[in-house]
Amino acid sequence: MSDTRPRRTFAVISHPDAGKSTLTEALALHARAINEAGAVHGKGDRKATVSDWMAMEKARGISITSAALQFEYRDHVVNLVDTPGHSDFSEDTYRVLSAVDSAVMLVDAGKGLEPQTLKLFRVCALRGIPVITVINKWDRPGLSALELMDKIEQQIKIRPTPLTWPVGEAGDFRGVLDRRTGEFIKYTRTAGGATRAPERRMDADAVEENDRQVWAAAVEEHELLELDDADHDQERFLTGETTPVMFASALQNFGVAQLLDLLLELAPAPGSTEGVDGSSREPGGEFSAFVFKVQSGMNSSHRDRLAYARIVSGEFERGMVVTHAGSGRPFATKFAQTVFGRETTSVEHAYPGDIIGLVNANALRVGDTIYTGKAIEYPPVPSFAPEHFMAASAGDIGRYKQFRKGIEQLDQEGVVQVLRSDLRGDQSPVLAAVGPLQFEVVEDRMLHEFNSPIRFSRLDYQVARITDAAGAAALAGKRGIEVLQRSDGTHMALFVDQWRAQVTARDNPEIMLEALPAGGA
Ligand code: GDP
Repeated sequence: MSDTRPRRTFAVISHPDAGKSTLTEALALHARAINEAGAVHGKGDRKATVSDWMAMEKARGISITSAALQFEYRDHVVNLVDTPGHSDFSEDTYRVLSAVDSAVMLVDAGKGLEPQTLKLFRVCALRGIPVITVINKWDRPGLSALELMDKIEQQIKIRPTPLTWPVGEAGDFRGVLDRRTGEFIKYTRTAGGATRAPERRMDADAVEENDRQVWAAAVEEHELLELDDADHDQERFLTGETTPVMFASALQNFGVAQLLDLLLELAPAPGSTEGVDGSSREPGGEFSAFVFKVQSGMNSSHRDRLAYARIVSGEFERGMVVTHAGSGRPFATKFAQTVFGRETTSVEHAYPGDIIGLVNANALRVGDTIYTGKAIEYPPVPSFAPEHFMAASAGDIGRYKQFRKGIEQLDQEGVVQVLRSDLRGDQSPVLAAVGPLQFEVVEDRMLHEFNSPIRFSRLDYQVARITDAAGAAALAGKRGIEVLQRSDGTHMALFVDQWRAQVTARDNPEIMLEALPAGGA
């Protein structure tokens, strides 16, 4: 029994507070994946979220874990992959981006482009992920629409091609001009925005008296955009030269239906994917998938390790035995789930673009490929440049065994990068993070999940470069430099500062010193 409905797999990304959780909830509500607004996130006095499962997340009001939400919309299956909002977990966000076919970038109309907005746009460009931009919070006073377009073009070097244009300035959101049909889509506010916001489409000559003035202003700007060649072009969108733009208020449910329609219309469906050897798999081929996230501690009573995999090709059937590309060993998928936060449902079948959570996946690591039939291995999920370093040791020597196990587990999940050297010995690994909050996650989980308090001492390094065995030997003992090895075998040279890294590279051109992509705040 094959499900042939087309798929769209995307992530919503933004600088924190731009409205990602609110939009996620509005999308799910609109598509009726869950029945009640407030079910997705639990800030303020709203219901507890289904996506935050750690006590810490609740305390901070941020979402640390990533999970996927699946819903149906107009005969399509939509997979919305959740990303953490806090920049300290940007590494996690980047991994998620390896599992999606497109991204929706939320921009706060009042704040414009923020640091994380710029960084995420860059990562999307780097990975060839087409981006749809949503200017959110148009119900509140903010920048002018033309000014925002200008900022996107100047600062991100991507051409914005608005599909809708706001009628009424920020703070006076009457509706939007549909730039492709010339119609006015008028919004009506509902109490609290908790239900679908009513929209009325009308021709220009049906625009009511009290909207006429703002409508005329919108038409004028729309014509300016036309002259400026800022119209949507599907080819250029897919190659990342342009980003379609729309205006919305996630809180009022304005523009949410349009966004869903755009996703179906413009966002790419799962396509063929290339393996490391240059061969590729079509979605219609035999089963293959890759792991983009590993997580444990979902349930404190049984600490199952869960590996999230994105299906690249073929049909997944629960119980099928697949091959793990790294080890060549068989992996039985007896337990597979779709997971959104605490809610888990056993999944029987899944298709390219879908995200599955594999339970008891102790052999699987981030980046691993699983497949049936002819061997295939997808490229590894890139890691990002750590900028914070801690020497770690067991806070309670009597619990060294637990300490070791915990560190190993967190390493495999990619919570932090774990570095070791003969000099420091096995008992005191160095933990490397993109953002300092990652250490708090380690501390918390080591204590509560692995029963081993951890002791940190901050190291004075700021920069990491990848080197090889020869480089490691050449750099050993140099002042202000320490070379350690990641568990995947990669040699990492740590430098006290940027200057030291640059001078070392300049004076020793024969030494391999490769920078990792920047991920930090
Ligand atoms: P996230 O950090 O990106 O997930 O942002 P949230 O969804 O938690 O939103 C941050 C704040 O902005 C919350 O107080 C939301 O109620 C508010 N917010 C989100 N979208 C809108 C919007 O369209 N209009 C207004 N006025 N507020 C919004």
